[in-house]
Amino acid sequence: MPGRHSEPALPGVAETEDTVKTIELRNDFHNTHTRIRVRPDGTVSARVVSRARRTLCGCNGCTCSGADGSRPGSRIVGPTPSGDFLVL
Ligand SMILES: [Zn+2]
Repeated sequence: MPGRHSEPALPGVAETEDTVKTIELRNDFHNTHTRIRVRPDGTVSARVVSRARRTLCGCNGCTCSGADGSRPGSRIVGPTPSGDFLVL
């Protein structure tokens, strides 16, 4: 029976293709947080990621987190072949 289980759109969540999202990244080790802007296609540039890491961790050689400096459970994966990162 097609269409019986289609889910209604969540009220208040209107994400259109051309909306730039801002997400917050946190680091529970250094107790820091920052916001980054995500492109409409769900990617962020390597520059934004490295700036986030400097804000969140900023310690050379620190292994508390990954490329973007957030923890636990980073939402940033990559880099992709184009050098950008994806936001999960
Ligand atoms: Zn660190």
